[in-house]
Amino acid sequence: MSAPNKSYDPVEVEALKPEEIERMRDEAVAAIAAATDLEALREVKVAHTGDRSPLALANREIGALPPHAKADAGKRVGQARGAVNKALKARQEELEAERDARVLVEEAVDVTLPYDRRPAGARHPMTSFADRIADVFAALGYRVAEGPEVETEWFNFDALNFPPDHPAREMQDTFFVERDGVADSGVVLRTHTSPVQIRSLIGQEPPVYVICPGRVYRTDELDATHTPVFTQVELLAVDEGLTMADLKGTLDHMVQALFGEGMRTRLRPNFFPFTEPSAEMDMVCYVCRGESVGNPDRPCRTCSSEGWIELGGCGMVNPRVLTACGVDPEKYSGFAFGFGIERMLMFRHDIEDMRDIVEGDVRFTLPFGMEI
Ligand SMILES: [Zn+2]
Repeated sequence: MSAPNKSYDPVEVEALKPEEIERMRDEAVAAIAAATDLEALREVKVAHTGDRSPLALANREIGALPPHAKADAGKRVGQARGAVNKALKARQEELEAERDARVLVEEAVDVTLPYDRRPAGARHPMTSFADRIADVFAALGYRVAEGPEVETEWFNFDALNFPPDHPAREMQDTFFVERDGVADSGVVLRTHTSPVQIRSLIGQEPPVYVICPGRVYRTDELDATHTPVFTQVELLAVDEGLTMADLKGTLDHMVQALFGEGMRTRLRPNFFPFTEPSAEMDMVCYVCRGESVGNPDRPCRTCSSEGWIELGGCGMVNPRVLTACGVDPEKYSGFAFGFGIERMLMFRHDIEDMRDIVEGDVRFTLPFGMEI
């Protein structure tokens, strides 16, 4: 039995027997039918059509057959592999269709469900407006300066030429910060942004051109026209040869940039400790442009038919303030201007109640949301 088999009977190759090929095919087709999802089908595919699958291994045996047996065996194996591939393709399509149908159900989005995302907010108009004001002055070469909101009395009052008995220093106007149980500690919540003028001048040789927006505090009750915390913008220019005409030109430019072409300002004499001369600055009413004056047929609520709106105080920097900051008043002069942004915003947008500005209700803020 050990003699070489010269004729090599194909029957001896077990894997190529017809019934064996059929068994391999049937096993493969059964496994394909039993695959319940695409992942299982992928494994079945590897097991029954891959390089190490029974039919692939049988196919390799064909080369060992004598020539006359090769064709038959090749045909049998080829037909079996064809049947397996056909079954595989059909099952693949079936399972993909099932998956697609399932995904449509499982991942469906109910567009009728209530909208529960956090609603979009908007920039507060105070922020946008303060930025706009700063932009106007930045374009003129001014720098934005900031200072602390808790300030010493010296910066808030003394350096600004407030005498020791000035009424603004009274407890009913100013919040004093208690320290070590002492109420009158010399530290206050700043009552205006003017101390930033002092901080900008000290230790800096003019020219100084700064704009100082910031929160200030006074002991007012919150009502339609007052708030204990509000926002001021302070303007300071110190240089050689500055005059009241420079101040007037700067104010005219500002109101035109913020309220539109043709806006005019006027100055009325006033008194502030830190400016001399001092003035109250009015702007022509931007609603009626002065046409309501003496015209009962066209009353104006914004200016009470007076034609002008008071915007803030201004003047030439008092030489005593320059001296307190170490600036030579013989060489330099300057002008300053301060105003409340809330009040300006109320005029600009016809806001009737200041509480709307401070309360933070998004229904108030949203209409301003598109303003940049
Ligand atoms: Zn008016």
